[in-house]
Amino acid sequence: QRVGFAIVGLGELSAEELIPAARTSEHAYVAALVTSERDKGEAFALALGLTPQDVYTYEEYDRLGERDDVEAVYIVLPNSMHREYVERAARAGKHVLCEKPLGMDAGDAQAIVDACARAGVQLMTAYRCQYTPQHWAARRAVQGGKLGKVKLLDSIHVQVQDDPEAWRLKRELAGGGPLPDVGIYSLNTIRFVTGREPEWVFATQHQPQGDPRFAEVEESVSFMLGFEDGVVANCLTSYGALTTSTLRVLGEEGTVLMDPAFPYQGVKLTVEDEAGKFEPSFGSHDQFAQEFDHFAQRVRDGQRPWTPGEEGVQDHVVMDAIYESARSGQVVRLKKVEGKDAFR
Ligand code: NAD
Repeated sequence: QRVGFAIVGLGELSAEELIPAARTSEHAYVAALVTSERDKGEAFALALGLTPQDVYTYEEYDRLGERDDVEAVYIVLPNSMHREYVERAARAGKHVLCEKPLGMDAGDAQAIVDACARAGVQLMTAYRCQYTPQHWAARRAVQGGKLGKVKLLDSIHVQVQDDPEAWRLKRELAGGGPLPDVGIYSLNTIRFVTGREPEWVFATQHQPQGDPRFAEVEESVSFMLGFEDGVVANCLTSYGALTTSTLRVLGEEGTVLMDPAFPYQGVKLTVEDEAGKFEPSFGSHDQFAQEFDHFAQRVRDGQRPWTPGEEGVQDHVVMDAIYESARSGQVVRLKKVEGKDAFR
């Protein structure tokens, strides 16, 4: 039996990606919607074959606890709201799929993990790229030794943010600028593809004076991740330049390039090794449907999801260190987290 989800927040991602993806999911379906605008919710409900009784306002959110058919919630709200809505869902006994970044910082994200652990519900961070065949093929090429010893990496994820009123530019709602919004993809994918954790970070950031968009958050961050054996990754993230997303892994005997690396569709992978250059093709797939399916299956079998809450916390630990480095101008060393299984 498919797992019923309540979609919490009917913004752009829910409307354009998640609700259409849920329709094609094998193991999940949308059973309820949570929104501030009842009319909008009811229009979506009608299109999904749901009734007005399946639409809840934020004030009515806790009443989802009365709905046995809603087994999970998908939190798709501004970052500062994740914690409250995860905690309330966990108290109601619902499993939680939560958008990235998991929280506002490492402490906030850890509180989210703890709330779900206390309530005995599953928690998954919605890292869609880790449900993408191109990213898995890149990981296999890197970890399977195709490139020889990995030496260097670089990644860019930038996009223009031109609305000064957007919640993404308000520190209290977003927690930061492009780093937790799009730079997180470079960080998370480098950790995923290499299976390694950074030992130190070094960063600079730029916050232009007089541009109302960047009164509260940075426009761009340039960060370096240092791994054992002198392996280094250089990353750029910004809200000030035309959409670009790339990731490159340079080894002694080959390279992996993803360009574009992080779009919803059409990730392009090129692997070059001693045998030549390959651009493997992948059938059409929907990252979001695969993400729904993965979590729904974990809800059913009780196994830990591939991208649990702890993965979200780990990225916050590194991002907190990146901001600290940008502020202090110093290299910041990271401690290995005891008992973590992120070295997969
Ligand atoms: P959005 O602005 O389009 O939607 C936000 C939703 O939250 C809206 O329904 C809005 O009504 C509601 N909301 C409630 N209180 C609000 C407030 N004070 N200010 C603004 N909105 C408020 O945002 P989005 O792009 O859908 O992002 C939501 C979450 O999804 C964020 O955590 C974001 O990082 C994440 N996201 C992930 C991806 C991805 O590829 N995985 C892509 C986009 C967004």
